[in-house]
Order: sequence, then structure tokens, then C-alpha cells
Amino acid sequence: MSCPYRAVLLVTRDMRGTASSVAKLRIELHCGEPEGHLGAHHDPRHGIQWDDHGKTVRTLLRDESEPARSHFP
Ligand SMILES: [Zn+2]
Repeated sequence: MSCPYRAVLLVTRDMRGTASSVAKLRIELHCGEPEGHLGAHHDPRHGIQWDDHGKTVRTLLRDESEPARSHFP
């Protein structure tokens, strides 16, 4: 069995002059580790790791002006 944890990575773009941001890109991440593994979840296709914070599906946010991140603690 593989790990059932997933995450959705939203790459956002700040809207000039407003406090809100819009999602530009949505990437679904699926953990590729065995069920019950230790440590961060890891999507080998996208090379991204994340901590679940107790959520089976976590939403991760990244601003498009940031350098690409591979780990979301
Ligand atoms: Zn996992």
C-alpha cells in the first residue's frame, strides 16, 4: 500500500493594489512513499516534500515571485 496523503500546490500571483491573490497554477501532489512511512511526504514526480500537519489533503501556497521550493514544512 502506498501512502494516502496528498497535497494541492497553488502557485499564486499577487494582484497589484489589492490584498488578494489569484491562483495561477494548481498542481496535485501524491505521496509516493509506503503507507505509514516516517518523515515528510514526497511526490517523486514533482520532487516536492511536505509535512501533513494532520491533514490527509493539504493545500500548499507558493507565490510565483518566490524561488521554486521543494519542501513545505
Ligand atoms: Zn506520505
